[in-house]
Amino acid sequence: MIRRSFFGYLAAKLPYETVQSGLPDPTDTGLPGVVTLQVQIRANQKSLVDKKKTVLKKGVEVQRGAIYGLFDEEAKELISPVSGVVTAVETRTGNYGRLFALIHIDTTEEGEADTSFSQALAENETSGETLAILSLLPELGDLIHTRQKDIHTVILSAMEEDLFINVNQYALVARKDDFIRGAKYIAKVVDHAKVVLALPSYLKGEAGDMGIETASIKNLYPSGNKRLLAKAVTGKAVSADKSLHEEGILFFNAEAVVLLGKALRTGTLPMETLISVRLKSRKTRMVSSRVGTPISHIFETLGETLEEKDHLIMGGPLTGTSVYNHTFPVYGDTDAIICHGQENMPRLSDTFCINCGKCVRLCPAHMPVNLLVRALENGRYEEAVEKYDLDACVECGLCSFICVAKMPLFQRIMLARHTLAESKKSAEKGGA
Ligand code: SF4
Ligand code: SF4
Repeated sequence: MIRRSFFGYLAAKLPYETVQSGLPDPTDTGLPGVVTLQVQIRANQKSLVDKKKTVLKKGVEVQRGAIYGLFDEEAKELISPVSGVVTAVETRTGNYGRLFALIHIDTTEEGEADTSFSQALAENETSGETLAILSLLPELGDLIHTRQKDIHTVILSAMEEDLFINVNQYALVARKDDFIRGAKYIAKVVDHAKVVLALPSYLKGEAGDMGIETASIKNLYPSGNKRLLAKAVTGKAVSADKSLHEEGILFFNAEAVVLLGKALRTGTLPMETLISVRLKSRKTRMVSSRVGTPISHIFETLGETLEEKDHLIMGGPLTGTSVYNHTFPVYGDTDAIICHGQENMPRLSDTFCINCGKCVRLCPAHMPVNLLVRALENGRYEEAVEKYDLDACVECGLCSFICVAKMPLFQRIMLARHTLAESKKSAEKGGA
């Protein structure tokens, strides 16, 4: 297996969105009539959903801020962002064959929020139970690992994961008190590790009074990428075949740290997410939405009319994925939604690589993308790993962006990775 460092690539000159031009409050998209929660399930759980053998099923009442398990009443799997009644539970096959249970809820008037979190917080704010509940908040899943002694670095990131997005920068600047509260809590729980705030260099003045070590990062894509940030902060490249967590690094976006701070301040579980929304006019707006809100509700609130053949993308322009249905819900980690009118639709093609080398020069993982793509096109995934360093990809999407033949390189890489992961799982099961 080849291993390359991240040095020596031709840095892209793609600046991230900033909050330099002001901080207008995001539009609150309010309480939609329907929300849909999504839980990833295993293949053998599909029949349980199909046979309606779930705890959450049609007719069950849910309460805002209460915690539920899908198959086991005692399990802590999801927080309801609304009060209401479950109208249906069904399965959906997502990208690359992943299976999900969708829980549709008709919302009702907002009553009192469930109090189990405030009770746990009052008893002991850093107990295992409190941490387990907080780790169900959007993008705070890694909180559950904070007690592990092999964690040496925690990165709080005010960088963005794609272009057009400025939610983490906004969260850091506009909700600074909650950010500091959340950051101090993390530092307290993980007192054996270094906590570093990575932020775009133009915002470094914001961190002056926080008492947190900072790393000032160039505001050019893809420097907000988690693996590249981990290298910038620790000075060491993360092994291509290991997760950040396996390397002793935990990662929290500034927006998630703000939610944590808000939960600690209010004693409730805020199931909302900030989203940069790119309209057909190419103007960007920011909204604050409940997890599970249908995309159509967000565009309706912003006065944008969706039409047949508009192209919707969840995520940013380089790494987002197309959505085929405007009722699709937003997740806790949704930080952008893009709507292209037909006239602005990005084009992909099915033609061949002309070996121009642009992707190789731009790839931050310094991979031979032009050779890799030949193996991927022919389904030679093992060869792609062994000879062309597939594992080293940091999933930035720059190769697709630059490809003169408009080949869907990033999508092919993601498909290959997913297929290999599934084969590995099946092999482990077979050998067990
Ligand atoms: S997505 Fe493409 S450009 Fe980015 S690291 Fe992977 S191969 Fe390189
Ligand atoms: S940019 Fe596209 S056409 Fe050029 S070498 Fe890479 S894959 Fe081939």
